[in-house]
Amino acid sequence: MIDGTTGAAGASVLMMLTSDQRDRAAGVLLGAACGDALGVPYEFAEPLPETAVPEMAGGGLGPYAPGEYSDDTQMQVCVAEVAASGADLRSEEALDGIAERFLRWFHEGASDVGLQTSGVLAATARAGGLSRAMREASADLHRKTGRTAGNGSLMRTGIVALSSLSDPQAMAEAARLVSSLTHFDDLAGDACVLWCSGVRRAVLDGTLDGVREGLDLLPAGRRGHWAAWLRDAETGPPWRFSPNGFVVPALQAAWSAVIRTTDLTEGLVTAVRVGNDTDTVAAIAGALLGARYGASAVPGEWRAKVHGWPGLRADDLVTLARRTAEPAAEAAS
Ligand SMILES: [Mg+2]
Repeated sequence: MIDGTTGAAGASVLMMLTSDQRDRAAGVLLGAACGDALGVPYEFAEPLPETAVPEMAGGGLGPYAPGEYSDDTQMQVCVAEVAASGADLRSEEALDGIAERFLRWFHEGASDVGLQTSGVLAATARAGGLSRAMREASADLHRKTGRTAGNGSLMRTGIVALSSLSDPQAMAEAARLVSSLTHFDDLAGDACVLWCSGVRRAVLDGTLDGVREGLDLLPAGRRGHWAAWLRDAETGPPWRFSPNGFVVPALQAAWSAVIRTTDLTEGLVTAVRVGNDTDTVAAIAGALLGARYGASAVPGEWRAKVHGWPGLRADDLVTLARRTAEPAAEAAS
C-alpha cells in the first residue's frame, strides 16, 4: 500500500509503506554502496573470468580500504542528505543544497572523481545560486567538448526515486534536474529518469517493470532509441556492454546484469564481471537490485564491511534511504 498526498511545493508530505516496501526502500543506497565497494578493486582492470567471485578487497583508484565505497556512493550520499530532509528535489533551494554538498565533497572528501564531473565542479564559481552556476559550468563543458553523457550522474541517481514515490512525473523532473547539475547531455538525464522509474516500481511492487515504463516519461523523440537500447541489453550478454563510461552502455550493462539474475548477490557479481568501470556499473545495478530484493537480501558479510565518506556504515545508508522514502514515519519514530 502506498498513500501519498502532495503539498503546495509538490513534495510528498505523507507516505505510508508496507514493511516489504520499507525493506526495499532501505536497500537502494545500501545496494548501490555494496555494488560500488565490490567493483572498486577491479575498476579499469582486466575483466574477471566468468567463474571468478569478486570480493570487497579494496585497492582500485583510491586506493580504498576493503569494503570502502568510492565516488559513486559518496556523491549519492550528497544527494541523499538533501533528499532525506523531505525537500522537493526540483526546488532551487534543494538543488543548491546538493550542489553545495558536491563542492564540499570535491574539495574535502573525494577519493577519486570522474573526468567530466571533475571538470564541472572545478569550473563552478562559488557564488549565490550555486546550482545554476554548476549547470552553467556543465553547459559550458558541453559547448567545448560535445561530450557530457558520461555515466557519472546515473551512478548517483537511485535515491532520487525515493523522494517522489507517489508522483512519477515529479520523480522524472527531479531525476533530470539533479543529473543536469553535472551532466548537460539529455541522454544522461534520460538514463536517470529510466533508472529512477525502475527503482520506484521495484520499491512499490517488487517488480522490474519500471525501467520500461519509464520510456513514457521521456520526450517522444528519444523513446525509440532507448527502447532499442533496452531491448539490446535484454538480449545480449552483459559483457557486451564494455567499455561503459558512456551512460548508454553503462545502463545497458547494469540492466543486462539485473534482468538475467534472480537475486541481489548474483546480480552484483554479474555486474562486476562486465568489466571496465566496474564500481559504477555495479553501483547503478545495486540501486535497482536493492530496490527489488530489499536491504534484507544484502549478505551479512557485505553489510558488515561496507563503509565510506563521510564516515557512514550500512545502518547509516539504510537510515538515509528510509528517511527519504518516509520522512513522516521517520520523524515520528
Ligand atoms: Mg567510483
